[in-house]
Amino acid sequence: MEIMKHELPSLPYAINALEPFISKTTLEFHYGKHHQAYVNNLNKLIKDTPFEDADLEEIIIKSNGGIFNNAAQVFNHSFYFSAFKPQGGGCPQNKLNEALVDTFGSFENFKTEFSKAGATLFGSGWVWLVADSSNKLRIVQTSNAENPLTDSLKPIMTLDVWEHAYYLDTQNARPKYIENFWEIINWDVIESRFAPFG
Ligand code: MN
Repeated sequence: MEIMKHELPSLPYAINALEPFISKTTLEFHYGKHHQAYVNNLNKLIKDTPFEDADLEEIIIKSNGGIFNNAAQVFNHSFYFSAFKPQGGGCPQNKLNEALVDTFGSFENFKTEFSKAGATLFGSGWVWLVADSSNKLRIVQTSNAENPLTDSLKPIMTLDVWEHAYYLDTQNARPKYIENFWEIINWDVIESRFAPFG
C-alpha cells in the first residue's frame, strides 16, 4: 500500500456553507478538483527525490519548477480555504486590528488597499497580508504559485485571484468576487496566524 505524504485537508465548513458568496459548485471544482490535483501532483513529483520526506514549507523554500508550483499551490489553497466561515466578515479584534490601523490608517483603508491589489493583479496569482521579521504588516502580490515564504515573509491572509476561484460565480467580475470574499472571512483564524506578542 502506498502512503500519500501530502493530503487534502478537510474544509472546516460544509461544501455549501459559504453560499451565496462562494457557491457549492465553485468549491466542488476549486477545492475538490484543483486543490486535490495539486496534492496528487506533488505526491507524484516528490517520489524518489530529496523532497520525498520534507515538509511542505521546506519544499516551498528549497524547490523550483513543477515541485515548487504544486507544493506552493497546496499551501496557498489550504491557507485560503481554512480562513473562511459562514457568517464571517466584520473586522479583526485585538492586536491584529491595532496593527492594521497602525500600518494602513484604518481597517477600511486596509480593506480598500487589499481589494485594489486583488483587482489590479494581472493574470493569475495571489494577494497576501504578510508580516516581516519585525512583525510589520505589508500587502504583497504574487504571480502564479509564488508564495511569500520564499522572501522570508510570514503569510497572515491570502486571496486567490486565479480565474478558477471565481469564474463560475461572478464570471469576469473579479471585483465582485473580492467584495464577496470579505463577507466570509474568519478573523479568528487570521488573528491566530498573526499573534505577534505571544
Ligand atoms: Mn485556486
